[in-house]
Amino acid sequence: MGILDFLFPKQCVGCKKGGTYFCHDCVARAKRTFPLVCPVCERASIDGVTHAKCKSGVSPEGLFSVWEYTGVPRKLIIQLKYKFVEEAACDLARGVSLELSKSCPYWLKGKNTLVPIPLYWRRENWRGFNQAKNVGELIAQQMGWEFKDLLVRTKNTKHQVGLKGEERKTNVGGIFQIEKWIVLNLNKKIVLFDDVWTTGSTLKEATKTLKAEGFAQVYCLTLAR
Ligand SMILES: [Zn+2]
Ligand SMILES: [Zn+2]
Repeated sequence: MGILDFLFPKQCVGCKKGGTYFCHDCVARAKRTFPLVCPVCERASIDGVTHAKCKSGVSPEGLFSVWEYTGVPRKLIIQLKYKFVEEAACDLARGVSLELSKSCPYWLKGKNTLVPIPLYWRRENWRGFNQAKNVGELIAQQMGWEFKDLLVRTKNTKHQVGLKGEERKTNVGGIFQIEKWIVLNLNKKIVLFDDVWTTGSTLKEATKTLKAEGFAQVYCLTLAR
């Protein structure tokens, strides 16, 4: 038994069953996001595809958030943020793969390239753990997708929590760059990944950066919304 098992005994965050942080029963019970919404206007849209009238050269093609930000998924995501439980990332990723294999938007089927939203290096070091990167890499592995850590954050931002919509937008303006050493295949469909969709400002800014680089198809995937 490691020190982490002692501090955070491995039990389901929902029903307290031992051996996993997110048991199969609680995965099955977790509230899936419904209806899916267009990432631009956040109104209902089939398969989370961006409405034709909402499209612009910089908007994502679609959005899929697996769960509603409530109950067990929310508890797990918060634990990951503040408690450094890396094993919980594994169980969360398994839950996502399970749900994706049951049903997912047409655009998520088949091969995808998953790109995580990066943390500013200083914050990542301090926490020692970038959950979007870790969970994203595990999801990619389990789904047989490609994983590319393509984006770097160029400046630290204030914590988004507590900022209003407009403040959030200006807070993230121009914060991403593309890793210059990675060879880009612009024909690939990119699935940007983050833990939670709140206002979407971070994911939209990352989409803008990728589109400016020449990627034509950029979709967003989050654990919850
Ligand atoms: Zn459970
Ligand atoms: Zn729309």
